Amino acid sequence: MKKLKKCPNCQGELTTKQVEKILKGGVNTAIIQVEAEVCLKCGERLYKPHVVRQFAKIRTQLKNQETFSLLTSLIIPILKSNWRLSLQLK
Ligand SMILES: [Zn+2]
Repeated sequence: MKKLKKCPNCQGELTTKQVEKILKGGVNTAIIQVEAEVCLKCGERLYKPHVVRQFAKIRTQLKNQETFSLLTSLIIPILKSNWRLSLQLK
């Protein structure tokens, strides 16, 4: 059984679900479907630490227009975590 966690904001109940995360870096945008703990009461989203690290990396790469390295670095997390990704690049 999974341990029940509480929302750090309001102590509400958390549920795991797929959410859409929009990441912007410069003129580029990435939309990622990723798993998060979502508070049923206030809507707060909690991401796992490795996911947060990926977000920071993606933002930097979008900003620096490193779209090729962005895609190659995302292949592993996408396969591992069942992410869905769409990129809006300019
Ligand atoms: Zn909450």
